[in-house]
Amino acid sequence: MRKPFIAGNWKMNVTDEEALQFVTQVTEKLPSSDKVEYALCAQAISLKGMKEKAVGTDLQIGAQNLHEEEKGAFTGEISAAALTSIGVKLAIIGHSERREMFNDTDERVNAKVKTALNHGITPILCVGELLEDRESGSADTVVKAQLEQALAGIESARAAEVVVAYEPVWAIGTGKSSTPEDAEAMCKTIREFLFDTYGPETANAIRIQYGGSVKPENIASYMAQDNIDGALVGGASIDVDSYLALIEET
Ligand code: PEP
Repeated sequence: MRKPFIAGNWKMNVTDEEALQFVTQVTEKLPSSDKVEYALCAQAISLKGMKEKAVGTDLQIGAQNLHEEEKGAFTGEISAAALTSIGVKLAIIGHSERREMFNDTDERVNAKVKTALNHGITPILCVGELLEDRESGSADTVVKAQLEQALAGIESARAAEVVVAYEPVWAIGTGKSSTPEDAEAMCKTIREFLFDTYGPETANAIRIQYGGSVKPENIASYMAQDNIDGALVGGASIDVDSYLALIEET
């Protein structure tokens, strides 16, 4: 049985002061994580403070990226060791915005997933097709190729730690969400790929989130699907009531 997992991705939209205020407010009201796990992925500057404010609660705090190298001359980047040194054990990897704007190629995404796993950080591995891929009928091929490359060289036991986020790029931040049926069809394709690659135990253990204009009003329709185990949520995770409602509706 896979436990649903809701992760908020604040991107570059929340200041440190707002982030700390949010955690203070939300932790007073969060349910226990017996039935659903939840996380907030914030800018690096806020992670330490958020971790401190979240002590004693089930709220997980995650990064939005990490660098694949252990250390070195990578000005402005964040290492896995720096994240774990403040207790951060979750990171979004290969978000489409990073793939598009920050040179997160499939090869680098693979290296980042490996580095995260080496440090005991759960990667939320993002995959998803462009609108033109969907319109040309190649969405499945594109997503499977992204997965294959992102997971190359990662054996079954380690792959079970990965969370996959299926995020059709055309649905991110656009208000145009995928239909629950289309999202389920792709998540089933992803599950089948994982089954073929790793066998049933690992394929059934890996959680697959849907992401793309998820909000409190539509999250239940995604959660009702067999192969959708949670959501990666941008815009609707930035407001305390909306974030709580997402968890409530899961
Ligand atoms: C995201 O940032 O991964 C995302 C899905 O954003 P939104 O929910 O705003 O579409």
